[in-house]
Amino acid sequence: MKVQAPNAHVVIVGGGFAGFACARELAKRDDVRITLIDKNNYHQFQPLLYQLATAALGTDDIATPLRTFFRGHPNVEVKLAEVTAADPKTRTVGTRDGSSYGGDFLVFAAGSQANFFGTAGAKENALPLYSVEQAQRLRSRILTVFEDADRDPKLVEQGALNFVVVGGGPTGVEMAGALADMIRLTMPGEYPDLAVKYARVYLVDHGHALLGPFPVEAHDYAAQALQRKGVQLRLGIGVKEVAADRVLLSDGTSIKTRTVVWAGGLMASPLAAKAGLPCGHGGRIDVRPDLTVEGFPGVYVLGDFANIPSPDDEALPQLGSVAQQCGTWTAKNILAEIAGETRTAFHYHDKGIMAMIGRNAAVAAIGKKRHELDGAIAFAAWVGVHALLMSGVRARIEAFVDWAWGYFSRARPIQILDRSDSSRIDWDNDIKSEGLGVSSDAQTVHSLG
Ligand SMILES: Cc1cc2nc3c(=O)[nH]c(=O)nc-3n(C[C@H](O)[C@H](O)[C@H](O)COP(=O)(O)OP(=O)(O)OC[C@H]3O[C@@H](n4cnc5c(N)ncnc54)[C@H](O)[C@@H]3O)c2cc1C
Repeated sequence: MKVQAPNAHVVIVGGGFAGFACARELAKRDDVRITLIDKNNYHQFQPLLYQLATAALGTDDIATPLRTFFRGHPNVEVKLAEVTAADPKTRTVGTRDGSSYGGDFLVFAAGSQANFFGTAGAKENALPLYSVEQAQRLRSRILTVFEDADRDPKLVEQGALNFVVVGGGPTGVEMAGALADMIRLTMPGEYPDLAVKYARVYLVDHGHALLGPFPVEAHDYAAQALQRKGVQLRLGIGVKEVAADRVLLSDGTSIKTRTVVWAGGLMASPLAAKAGLPCGHGGRIDVRPDLTVEGFPGVYVLGDFANIPSPDDEALPQLGSVAQQCGTWTAKNILAEIAGETRTAFHYHDKGIMAMIGRNAAVAAIGKKRHELDGAIAFAAWVGVHALLMSGVRARIEAFVDWAWGYFSRARPIQILDRSDSSRIDWDNDIKSEGLGVSSDAQTVHSLG
């Protein structure tokens, strides 16, 4: 494929880690024009969504307007629009508002959404954690149950203060740890009239270990750290149904709750099914080692949206570091194509993985060999790495101020109930749903007694 600069035009769908990194690299070149389309006007930092949901950080700590980043780059135009259709043969996309954008190159980087694996009621009643909006909803729901129980303590018996996290991977573990800290350290001071000691956090996973991709030592460390914080682990047990007022488990028990956090898996965002490209595992687009798609010249697919082959024949994991690196790599391959040179296969530089298990507890598996670190060193490493990953000095400073404030004061600076409509609870629903899906031999796990 031959494209003449300065006319080369690159259309990028998605301003997350991958699309943003690609645009930022290409923006350095005045002879390339970039159109960056996102359904939100901001770049969101997904790894910290759980801190937004537990009121440790505010929205502007983890979401930065895309236009602000590219203000100094006249060759980048940002479009706020949801892409709903695509023709990869002509490298054109169509948006919900009826506009269309075509380029010499088309880059898909539209990320993930929750995968409920067909679990009954999960789509309707569980709260996923893959976007700023979802994290705000979850935060509002957590605050709503505390407010409702504060006005009417009988609601505690209806499970108001039971929180169920589904999924024992990094997202579920981080969420359970942060929630337990919030309940133990902050809420008793905020709700002096409420018996906060009856609040419970449950973590449910059908596997037998937490933090699957980490070394075995980290599995045990995470389990012990969570249990020390009071989290009740239900491992080796699946979720059969998420009803409006409870979760039914595969061992026949149920947990009354109004807050079910879904961290049970992900799949490609809905655009993948409409992109006209070959979908594989997790609904993601199958790409070649150089992140292009067979039969579609000029089309690249990046990050969580793609099944990216790795040298050991397994697809690369859905990680911010993978997405960011493949964004930069693709920009270089596009520039190579423009210069008439050959593309190179993406090489992921694996520096390791880490997870925060709440205050003072973290695990890190360093490098490709996954050398395990835990405790204070891993905690410090986690803070440093995440501050560096954040895109913008302002976001970093604000996050550090909020972290430091929360750490020393044990307060949650951002307890904003800003989505009261979607988080409102119909408590009478319990009575109506008493016979729904609850088998006669089901035992209820009570928060009291
Ligand atoms: C709670 C959580 C914690 C995580 N923790 C870590 C961690 O600690 N370390 C780590 O490395 N990774 C972590 N990850 C994974 C990491 O965040 C993702 O792998 C990464 O965000 C993927 O980047 P991406 O650019 O492919 O997609 P995203 O970052 O999801 O970006 C996709 C973008 O596309 C936009 N978009 C989607 N559909 C459309 C459409 N139809 N039209 C227009 N725009 C669209 C979205 O608005 C979004 O801006 C975590 C993920 C989650 C959810």
